[in-house]
Amino acid sequence: EMALKNSKSVHYFNADDGASHQRRLTITRRLEQALIDNQLSLYYQPKQHLQNGQVRSCECLLRWIDNGEFISPGEFIPIAERSGLILLLGEWVLDSAFKQVKHWYSEGREVQVAINISARQFLQPGFTESIERRLKEYQVPPSLIELELTETSIMDNHQLASEVLVELRKLGVSLSIDDFGTGYSSLAYLSAFPVDKVKIDRSFVSQMVDAPKQQAIVLTICQLAHNLGLQVIAEGVETDSQRELLHQYGCDYLQGYLFARPAPASEVSVLFN
Ligand code: C2E
Ligand code: MG
Ligand code: MG
Ligand code: MG
Repeated sequence: EMALKNSKSVHYFNADDGASHQRRLTITRRLEQALIDNQLSLYYQPKQHLQNGQVRSCECLLRWIDNGEFISPGEFIPIAERSGLILLLGEWVLDSAFKQVKHWYSEGREVQVAINISARQFLQPGFTESIERRLKEYQVPPSLIELELTETSIMDNHQLASEVLVELRKLGVSLSIDDFGTGYSSLAYLSAFPVDKVKIDRSFVSQMVDAPKQQAIVLTICQLAHNLGLQVIAEGVETDSQRELLHQYGCDYLQGYLFARPAPASEVSVLFN
């Protein structure tokens, strides 16, 4: 309880720290309860096509308010990954996202929703089948479902990952590599993976206007992706100058506060055209 109330003074990411260990246990326990009590929600952040302005897709992001306190997925997702709770959490996210896609689809809106998938969830036996089952159950076109896998989760186990990606691809869902550029990217592997898109990590985008090196990285990722026949999306776009450069580089999609913040489905619906 104390750890939560004094959360600002807790060092979340120091594994040897007693306080952070306590915090992790507390988070795990309360998150499990929140899942049971249906206290989690999904926010949706639209993506805009940079060249033609169309808005037809979004990313869903998990939100958790614990007794009035917002807890960031950047904190609780890694904890849930360690405890294994991510598997249950991941199931909940998939069902909620599919439900939303179905809802929009039934209103005549073909909105593609990108769902973040943890490595553990993705590499779990039966993951592909669980997607296949939901496509049947919810009756949504597979092209409206996108799965975002982080670069690290693919590269850490590239053999198995590649097999799973091939199976998922056969279902017709879209696949993207999240946080691209932050892991130890192997270009050789990138060309071998059957993915559709790469997402340039926010850390490069946020520095690109003033830092020539970050700018070079962003440009290179755009060119590399296009040369491999993949689409590129930039995350964390906050300024017009960033947008301008990305447009020049031929980046396909933009996602960030400049265009829209993540919000409940009912609020973002109006942005799709
Ligand atoms: P991510 O998948 O890379 O998601 C992008 C993050 O950047 C989100 O943070 C989003 O709110 C934030 N963002 C978007 N535009 C901007 C911007 O212009 N400026 C800034 N400063 N931030 C921006 P969020 O929602 O806190 O999520 C953090 C991470 O938690 C996600 O990174 C993802 O790795 C993970 N996550 C969130 N929801 C889920 C989920 O349902 N399942 C799994 N496995 N992971 C999730
Ligand atoms: Mg993502
Ligand atoms: Mg990302
Ligand atoms: Mg990121």
